[in-house]
Amino acid sequence: MYNIKAYSAASATSPLASDRISRRETTERDVQIEILFCGICHSDLHTVRNEWSSIMPTAYPCVPGHEIVGRVTKVGSAVTKFKPGDLAGVGCLVDSDQTCPNCKAGLEQLCPNQTLTFNSPDKHLGGITYGGYSESIVVDEHFVLRVPSNLNLAGVAPLLCAGITTYSPMRRWGDLKGKKVGVVGLGGLGHMGVKFALAFGARVVVFTTSPSKKEDALRLGANEVIISSNPEEMQKHAGSFDFILDTIAASHDINAYINMLAHDGNITLVGAPEKPLAVSAFALLFGRRSLSGSVIGGIAETQEMLDFCGKHGITSDIELIKIQDINEAYERMLKSDVKYRFVIDMASLKV
Ligand code: NAP
Ligand code: ZN
Repeated sequence: MYNIKAYSAASATSPLASDRISRRETTERDVQIEILFCGICHSDLHTVRNEWSSIMPTAYPCVPGHEIVGRVTKVGSAVTKFKPGDLAGVGCLVDSDQTCPNCKAGLEQLCPNQTLTFNSPDKHLGGITYGGYSESIVVDEHFVLRVPSNLNLAGVAPLLCAGITTYSPMRRWGDLKGKKVGVVGLGGLGHMGVKFALAFGARVVVFTTSPSKKEDALRLGANEVIISSNPEEMQKHAGSFDFILDTIAASHDINAYINMLAHDGNITLVGAPEKPLAVSAFALLFGRRSLSGSVIGGIAETQEMLDFCGKHGITSDIELIKIQDINEAYERMLKSDVKYRFVIDMASLKV
């Protein structure tokens, strides 16, 4: 074991603060990575504040962070994909049983025995796993991703969660070329959803609660922007969408968006609000519409997404912060005041 600097929360009501944690020595299958950048996902905030207590209660101290990019510093003897000096990424998963049918199908995100990057039982050291708000991480090579070298590294970090979470359900839906796609909520996930939907050839409409984001959404390439609090704007588009991706992090009226779907349209939830959403049966029945959920993506699909981003020059629009400003960043994220992902420059942790 070795000891490193990290930022952790001591309880659901504590701010994040400087701490020290242990990492395991690299086993033969492990890759040790010096973390250069870590994105801030709304899931970090949900977890730190124990907002998902009924599904996955938070164990403290909690070190969040699952949008990790860095440089390989050491590899175990059986590692073949990486060598010291390589760039590497780590997302939301650091382990799974790799024997269940889901793992065999490349769906590690659905493995019943998966280990999340933070707040999951740690098979190696006991206790729980600690995430990317830290100097380094040690991960089984199967869960380490290759990072395209032509992209801005800080802008790549959010691809490891916000990227794959939006890429995967759109790919799964089918060919989006020429389809009418809605993206609800223009935050970290939402702005990546817009970029992917456009790259897949869709006609993209953004639903936002923030009139101030309208210009940005158009600059990102959205064909139209709807201010969701305006009933006339909403009514104009009722019954017209093939696919909608809902990224909202808080309680909201999902029926308003189900009613935007054409017949046989699908709305996929990726946002994970703390409280259950009330779904109108009639909104689904009349129109034969469907409601689905989706969680990140498998490892092979995450690599496919990163390679796609490398080929198409896609990164996240980020605001780079020092780790000392993390608590303020959380408050701004809660106010939907982030354009469009905070990324921590991990050099600031060394100060
Ligand atoms: P984020 O950057 O905070 O963006 C969420 C956006 O939702 C906000 O920017 C805002 O967009 C909109 N919004 C927030 N509060 C709202 C409210 N009360 N009513 C309506 N709209 C509201 O968060 P994120 O990192 O993108 O994450 C979004 C959600 O996805 C979180 O719940 C997170 O835990 C979850 N998540 C799920 C997965 C998965 O695998 N399924 C992966 C990562 C994250 P506007 O200002 O445009 O309205
Ligand atoms: Zn995330």
